[in-house]
Amino acid sequence: MLSVSRRGESLAQQLHNEGISNTDVLKAIASTPREMFLPEALQHKAYQNTALPIGLGQTISQPYIVARMTELLLEIIPSNAKILEIGTGSGYQTAILAQLFSEIFSVERIKSLQFQAKRRLQKLDLHNVKMKHGDGWEGWTSKGPYDAIIVTAAAKHLPKMLLTQLSEQGTLVIPIGTEAQKLQMFTRSEEGFNEKTIEQVRFVPLVPGDLQ
Ligand code: SAH
Repeated sequence: MLSVSRRGESLAQQLHNEGISNTDVLKAIASTPREMFLPEALQHKAYQNTALPIGLGQTISQPYIVARMTELLLEIIPSNAKILEIGTGSGYQTAILAQLFSEIFSVERIKSLQFQAKRRLQKLDLHNVKMKHGDGWEGWTSKGPYDAIIVTAAAKHLPKMLLTQLSEQGTLVIPIGTEAQKLQMFTRSEEGFNEKTIEQVRFVPLVPGDLQ
């Protein structure tokens, strides 16, 4: 168990003021040392509610959107769920998920980011996460099906392969679009998929193929 820090608590309070109401999510935010997920020169900004560069043209997501996406999952998915995350990046969202759900799988296409994220989670003793260097556009078929799939990069269009890896009543949360992006949820039902638009968002692009 990670413990709550004073700066973490003040970030959680800020997110609460912005509409995040789930207390488990707020506690995970308050307990996660976000400075560990940032390059040294930016660590003083760790508890600001902003996205920040993590190198290689990528960003650590804004805490508000990390909390919002996690809250959406907690509303519909039990905590003993199996979750697939696409776009590990710094591993910050992964660390939040790992405190709230049983089993997390995470895919990142940039090897050096994947390697650093893995080390950070080990350091925090979060051992319920399996990570892979690969193209998340294809999901991670061999470990599926998943109760939820969360994509933390914006897809130009819906990656169909991800839908096939959802369990019965499983949910995909994904930003879709290029300039104007919308966070969307697709939930499997007996008749197909129920689609819901959550809000406008801004993520780096989800890149198909070409591993680095
Ligand atoms: N949740 C992360 C967000 C990182 S930004 C964080 O808070 O740190 C999105 C990440 O998605 C980047 O690291 C990028 O390299 C990765 N990404 C982009 N396209 C991808 C793909 N096809 N497969 C896997 N990862 C991808």
